[in-house]
Amino acid sequence: MRLAVAVEAPQHTGLGAPLDYLADRAWPAGTLVRVPLGRRTVTGIVWGDAGATPDAGLTLRPIAQALDALPPLPATWRDMVAFAAGYYQRGLGELALAVLPPELRKVDATQLARRLGRRRPASVPAPSPALRPLTPEQAAALDQLARLPPGPVLLHGVTGSGKTELYLRAAAQALDAGRQVLVLVPEINLTPQLEARFAERFPGRRLVAQHSGLSPAQRLQHWLAAHLGEADLVLGTRLSVFTPMPRLGLIVVDEEHDPSFKQQDGARYSARDLAVWRSQREQVPVILGSATPSLESWQRAEEGRYTRLTLAERVGGGALPRLRIFDMNRLPRDRSQQTVLAPPLQAAIEARIARGEQSLLLLNRRGYAPVLHCGACGWKSGCPHCSAWRVFHKADRTLRCHHCGFTERVPRACPDCGNLDIAPLGRGTEKLAEQIAALLPGARIARIDADSTRLKGALESQLAAVHAGEVDVLVGTQMVAKGHDFRRMTLVAAVNPDGALFASDFRAPERMFALLMQAAGRAGRDAAHAGEAEMWIQTWHPTHPLYRALATHDFAAFAATQLDERRSVGLPPFSFLALLRAEAREAAVAQAFLADAAAVAAPPGLVCYAPVPPPVARVAGVERMQLLVESTSRPLLQQWLAAWVPQLHALKARHKRLLRWAVDVDPLGL
Ligand code: ADP
Ligand code: ZN
Ligand code: ZN
Repeated sequence: MRLAVAVEAPQHTGLGAPLDYLADRAWPAGTLVRVPLGRRTVTGIVWGDAGATPDAGLTLRPIAQALDALPPLPATWRDMVAFAAGYYQRGLGELALAVLPPELRKVDATQLARRLGRRRPASVPAPSPALRPLTPEQAAALDQLARLPPGPVLLHGVTGSGKTELYLRAAAQALDAGRQVLVLVPEINLTPQLEARFAERFPGRRLVAQHSGLSPAQRLQHWLAAHLGEADLVLGTRLSVFTPMPRLGLIVVDEEHDPSFKQQDGARYSARDLAVWRSQREQVPVILGSATPSLESWQRAEEGRYTRLTLAERVGGGALPRLRIFDMNRLPRDRSQQTVLAPPLQAAIEARIARGEQSLLLLNRRGYAPVLHCGACGWKSGCPHCSAWRVFHKADRTLRCHHCGFTERVPRACPDCGNLDIAPLGRGTEKLAEQIAALLPGARIARIDADSTRLKGALESQLAAVHAGEVDVLVGTQMVAKGHDFRRMTLVAAVNPDGALFASDFRAPERMFALLMQAAGRAGRDAAHAGEAEMWIQTWHPTHPLYRALATHDFAAFAATQLDERRSVGLPPFSFLALLRAEAREAAVAQAFLADAAAVAAPPGLVCYAPVPPPVARVAGVERMQLLVESTSRPLLQQWLAAWVPQLHALKARHKRLLRWAVDVDPLGL
C-alpha cells in the first residue's frame, strides 16, 4: 500500500507536497515515520493515502520505520499546519517538521520508546490558594466571557487592570472542565513571571513552558506532556501555537499586539493570527489581551467580528500616571540639543530619590552613541558590510554593527585623515546612564538592555536588584518597558521619543504609542504611591496628537485617528499586503528577479508595486530588494500568491545568478 508522507524537502526543490512511500500497514494519518529521502533517512509525518494514480516509471521506496509509540498528530494539528503552509506560502512538509521539537526529528522508534518510558508521573492534586474577590469590572468581564459563544475576545485593559487575573480565572474554568489551556506570551523574558503566577495559582496542575531558552531534551519532554494530554497548561512563545493538545479548552494571547508574535524568517507566520484560526478550528475561546491592541484586532472589534471586553480601571484604585509633556523648545536653542534632562524633570527625579522611590528612563537605542564622527574630514563609523553605521560601545571600546555583528576596536584616530579628535554623535543607553550619573551624584544608576543582559542570568539578577530597591534610576530600552511589576517605581520618562513620529514605517506611531503606554504602566503600580506617579515626555513636538492621546490614556482616540489615516490611504487593516523579498551579492541581480516577478500580470483589484530597497538595503555584504503586493481582498491576494509563488520558483531557476527570495504574507515591517 502507498501512503503520502510529509517530509522536510528543501524549499528550492519546490517539493512542498507530501511524497509517496510504500507501507506494509495502513498507518493512520499523523503517525511519525522514518523514511529514506535522497541518501538520508529522515523523520516524516503520514499525511494520508497516496494519490490514486501512481507515477509511471517511479519506483517508490518503503517507509523504514513507524514511531507508533507516539499517538498520531491529530487532524486539528494537521489542518492548522496545512492552513499555515498554504497561507504563508511555504512547503507543507517543511513547516510541519519545523514546528516539531528538533529532538523528535532525530530519534528512532527505540529512542522514542525510551523517552516515553522516562516520563514524569502526573503531579499530586494540592490545595489551591485562596482567591481575592474580583473587582466589579473583572467580575462583569468574566461573566460575559462565560456566556459568549466561541469566538475571539479582545480583552482591552489598561496596564494593571487585572487582565492576568482574568486569564487565571478563565483558565481555572477550563481546567475544572477537564480541558487544557494554551497561553502565548511574546517574549521569553516575560515568561518566568507569568509562569510563576500560573504555577502558584494551580499548584496541583502540570504546567509546561515552551520557548527557545529550554534545552532540546526539555523541549521534547514538555511537548510530549502536552501532546499526550498530561500537561494541563502550556505557556510559551510564538512557536507553541503549534503544540498539539488533545484536550484544548482555551487559548490566551497575552500582549497580542506584540510584533514578536510574527516569525521573521522561514515560514513567516503570525502566532496571534494562527491562534485565532486554531480557536475557530477547535471551537474553543481565544482571549487576545492588551492595553494597546494591534489596530488589526481593534478594527475587527469595531466591526463586531471580535467581542471586546474592557477593563478601564486599575485594580485597587491605583491611578494611571499623570502625563507631563516637556516642550524642549522652551530651553534656549543652544542648550536644548545638549540637554539630557529638562530641569523640572531632573527635579522630579531628585524628589523621588529623596523619597526612596524609583524612576525609569526609557531610551530605545542601546550602545554609547549610534555613530562616531571625524569633524576634520567627515569620516563616519560606517559598517563595511552593511548600509548602516556601526555603534560605539564605550564599555569595551568597540564599534559594533547591530545588523551583521561586525565588531572592531575603536580606532585611536580617524582612519581617513589621522585626526585624533573623533567624537560620538547622538546618544544610546550607555551614554545616557553615564550622563545621569554625572547629573545625579550619589544616585544608584542601573542600565538594562540587550548588552547588559547578554550573560545568562544577568537579566534576572539586574531585575532582582531593581525589585529589591537597590536602584534609584533605571535606564533601559523597550526591554524594561513591558510587563514588569516594579512596585517602587513612580516616574517614567521617555527622554527622546520624537523619532517615531516621522519614521517611514507606517506602523511606527502605533508601536511608539504602545511602548509609551506600556512604559507608563510601570509607574504607580503600588496604590500607596500611585498618586504621585508621572510619565514624562521630552519633545520638540508637544502638540502632536500621539502625545495628546497619551496624556488622556485614550487608546480609543489614538486608534481612531490612526485608523482614519490608514483607511484614507488604503493601508492595513483596510488592505492586505505581501512582500516579496530578494537578496543577492549585487543589487541588480535581486532587482532583475523582482522586475520579472512584477511582470507577471496581476488581476484587477491587486497592485504589484515596483521593486525598492528596504530601509537598510545591504546587510553582511548582501544587497536586499523588495516588492510590495497589495489588495483590498484577502482571498484575492491569497489566490494570486498561490498561482504566483510556483512561477517564482521557475523564475528563480532561470535566473542563473545566486539569489535568495522569500514571500512575507502580512509583513510587519516594510
Ligand atoms: P494586568 O495583567 O492588566 O497588568 P494584573 O492581573 O497583573 O493586571 O493585575 C495587576 C495587579 O493587581 C497585580 O498585582 C494583581 O495581583 C493585582 N490584582 C488583580 N486582580 C485583583 C483583584 N481582584 N483583587 C486584588 N488584587 C488584584
Ligand atoms: Zn578624519
Ligand atoms: Zn554590518
